[in-house]
Amino acid sequence: MSLGEATATADDKIRCDACPVMCFIKPGAVGACDRYGNVDGNLVRVDPHVMLDRTIDQGGELVSFAGPREWDGDILHQPGTFVTAIGAGTTYPDYKPAPFIVSSEVDGVDMVTVVTEGIFSYCGVKVKIDTDRFLGPETAIVRVEGEAVGHVTSGEYGSQMLSLGGVHHLTGGSKKEGRVTCDTLLSLSNGKAVELTIDGGETVVVQAGKPPIVNGVEESRMRVGCGSATIGIFAKQWHGKVDEVVVVDDHITGVLSEHQAGKLLGMPATGLKMKGRRSTPGRYFQVAQPGTGWGGTNISDPLTILGPFDPKVAYPGLRLLMVSTTGEHAAYYELDENLVPVEMQMPERLVEPVERIAENCEPALSTVLFIGGAGGSLRAGVTENPVRLTRSVKDALTYVTCGGAPVYIWPGGGITFMVDVTRLPENAFGYVPTPALVAPLEFTMKLSDYQELGGHMDYVRPLSELTADGRLKLPQRLDNPWPLAPERMRRSHG
Ligand code: SF4
Repeated sequence: MSLGEATATADDKIRCDACPVMCFIKPGAVGACDRYGNVDGNLVRVDPHVMLDRTIDQGGELVSFAGPREWDGDILHQPGTFVTAIGAGTTYPDYKPAPFIVSSEVDGVDMVTVVTEGIFSYCGVKVKIDTDRFLGPETAIVRVEGEAVGHVTSGEYGSQMLSLGGVHHLTGGSKKEGRVTCDTLLSLSNGKAVELTIDGGETVVVQAGKPPIVNGVEESRMRVGCGSATIGIFAKQWHGKVDEVVVVDDHITGVLSEHQAGKLLGMPATGLKMKGRRSTPGRYFQVAQPGTGWGGTNISDPLTILGPFDPKVAYPGLRLLMVSTTGEHAAYYELDENLVPVEMQMPERLVEPVERIAENCEPALSTVLFIGGAGGSLRAGVTENPVRLTRSVKDALTYVTCGGAPVYIWPGGGITFMVDVTRLPENAFGYVPTPALVAPLEFTMKLSDYQELGGHMDYVRPLSELTADGRLKLPQRLDNPWPLAPERMRRSHG
């Protein structure tokens, strides 16, 4: 698709002015970002410009760019077509109107969508890794190719969290740190696998929507809950089959007979002594060091977290089950005449309750959310009065999408948005070597609201004027709301 914003030189190179790098591009070559090329003296955005069609059912999968479909010639059966910013191009400097400002009529209402591939120096990804294995200490540096690209942040329920990218790694370190950070963000945002190494921790391969691979081993289960929660869920199913259960967990290890769940079931004390710090009855913190063993601890022998049994309470033959929060690790013991636990084969009656824990675990996945700040100069491509766009977004008059996918806008100042990268077509993100990420962004609103906020009205063109040239029609994912639907319908879809 020719964009025509280029200056020719004597040796037939053309100068791209779509970003601050201002590449000179030889005939037949592409610029530094691989997004723009010199085709017969014209500046061309080399990837197809993606339109979404809500009439094609694709089963909610990631939509691949590979093997573009034939354009059926019926470009614009309104309102079933949505113009995304993927492949739309970028304008620079920002005061120029966005590359496409497209109007269409939806249910008798004139709407407009402003689309641009925004350049984000202020961006990163938040990564959620479903595993109870310890990946590294909080605030530890995360590296790719030895370069710092982010850090470990506070863990969530059953997941380890990483914060990668951000303006400091992109611009505040060495040139190589900026380049590697940019590559890492681009790969993760485009659904590719990246190997991350954590200082003082482990190596993990992360890919959006796929199981994490920790030290070469694919994670399969996300824990059912912490040790205390696991007892709360399964206490009744263990009752009568065993005298004591310890659910080993790095954060909160549970002891059934002491726990409120055991008390309610009338379970007698067993004289079991836990190491670590007792929080509340049946709930213990810091029973071991974090690691990749039982329940996200560093232990491979669960007996190491037990002290000696109290001889006034315990008795020979007492039956003890120790299990992890995923059911991945489990062992059965009986006390001998010296009140020492002796491991025995798991009795048949306990096989199903242990399997029930595993059955209740959800599949472990890696989740990647792109986060970017669109509250800066990018707004000038939408309106001459940028703060009005910010207010319009906050007032829900303007609906923001990223490649047609719904975004979460942070409350407070600016337009800081997050998007689940698996809800976009693959390879929707790009980069420029400043270094910065390029992310598609669409602002959809009523045409009258656009006029009100000082929009570039002279540049509005009807959807029906767009041709099939250089464009690719993809189906809208079924789990994404239709961006042109009335707000109440988008919310109910949500
Ligand atoms: S990096 Fe890409 S967008 Fe920037 S000037 Fe070069 S070709 Fe154009």
